[in-house]
Amino acid sequence: MDQEMLPPHVLIFPLPLQGPVNSMFKLAELLCLSGLHVTFLATDNIHTRLLKYSNIQSRFDSYPGFRLESISDGLPEDHPRSGAGLIEMFDSLKTKNKILLKELLTSGKLNSDSRRPVTCIIADGIMGYTFDVAKEVGLPIIYVRTISACCLWVFFCLPKLIESGELPFAGDDLDTPIKSIPGMEGFFRRRDLPAFCRSGNLSDPTLQLALPESTENPRAHGLILNTFDDLEGPILSQIRSCCPNLYTIGPLHSHLKYKLEGESSSSLPSSNSLWKEDMSCITWLDSQPPKSVIYVSFGSLAVMTKEQYMEFWYGLVNSGSRFLWVIRPDSITSDSAEIPPELSKGTEERGYIIGWAPQEEVLAHTAVGGFLTHSGWNSTLESVVEGIPMICWPYFLDQQVNSRFVGEVWKLGLDMKDTCDRVIVEKTVRELMEDRKDEFRKSADQMAKFAKQCLMEGGSSYCNLERLISDIKAM
Ligand code: UDP
Repeated sequence: MDQEMLPPHVLIFPLPLQGPVNSMFKLAELLCLSGLHVTFLATDNIHTRLLKYSNIQSRFDSYPGFRLESISDGLPEDHPRSGAGLIEMFDSLKTKNKILLKELLTSGKLNSDSRRPVTCIIADGIMGYTFDVAKEVGLPIIYVRTISACCLWVFFCLPKLIESGELPFAGDDLDTPIKSIPGMEGFFRRRDLPAFCRSGNLSDPTLQLALPESTENPRAHGLILNTFDDLEGPILSQIRSCCPNLYTIGPLHSHLKYKLEGESSSSLPSSNSLWKEDMSCITWLDSQPPKSVIYVSFGSLAVMTKEQYMEFWYGLVNSGSRFLWVIRPDSITSDSAEIPPELSKGTEERGYIIGWAPQEEVLAHTAVGGFLTHSGWNSTLESVVEGIPMICWPYFLDQQVNSRFVGEVWKLGLDMKDTCDRVIVEKTVRELMEDRKDEFRKSADQMAKFAKQCLMEGGSSYCNLERLISDIKAM
């Protein structure tokens, strides 16, 4: 067939972490549904885990235009890719993967008689080197940021914070207001900046990683954000001042669900889990009263000390609330947390603990009434869509920013950052699940309604996705 007659071919390359893989996989499916050919490029480590734990195989049948390819991140297979290993992974991507990516794009391996060579790259914007590769091989590139717009704006303003002398600061006086982030004056404090800003040191490796964003992100043809205008409108206006071509098409997981329903497709949205989901929690939830359970999960990367776990455990049991708690096997820094005898009765009666949850399904369950979260952006959006109020206990990166917006700007819950004390956990859970539940549920319901409206025909995310697809087709 004449290659020009074939659909455009998009290469999607996510940052190799659970959150970005989740949201960029939904994007891949949305593009497949619109008839584009998509190659989803995963690092070997992610590729292996996707094949083992997710239902990705079924996507090959649903979308004839879909392909999964793998590439090395440059690290040995058994090298840790969380904690200190995370920065090493970024370094390795920038140096070793950069060469491999160029080789892959020029090898002809990605095209065939029924598949054009790649016509456009969509990559995570934190991997700035992909822009250089795209330029060298003569391809247009669109970036995706899988963090919130409010955090991205903080990243963009980091040079300004340094210029004004607000950065660096030592780890004290965390309630000092931050003045040089336009649009965040009046409610944003040192405490709400990404955790890496607290090191008192401009050479902090994560700060160094985030600093070039304000100059690197705008170089791409456009910027896709997993958010929606009613949630982050004022901050999006700020970002447009440096990145005019924004595609706000989120919440992506919900966007895909709507499109699949619209197609009356029998296919369920994908599960992109990198751990095995424990479905027994759904049976447990089925037997709980409506809105009675607080779901507790700190995402795929957060790590805690045994002492912190114990504070949460006492707080949860003493709150009297029912709870479903995800304790990832690799999330405790010391040996596994043994259950203290005085907690066993309360845990047995009201609690359920698993290693990894089908989170979207859990948050959509009628028994769930609250979410104690680390405020990762995917988790936050999944909670927003289901109208579930949150208690935020941010761990790192964008999470400190997200939790401030959840508590102070969107009024969708309570921000518990920087405290980990059983009495506060107990009090906060009671506040969310009992004392102030009506107030939080009302604002969460309202925001969930906005989230749904933006995905309907004529809504902001609906229109932006249409525009993205037509721009890709025109490339
Ligand atoms: N997640 C899941 N099961 C769990 C915990 C998390 O499926 O038990 C998913 C969750 O739905 C979300 C992703 O893992 O899509 C976590 O991404 P997020 O941005 O919230 O946090 P991160 O893991 O990147 O810190």
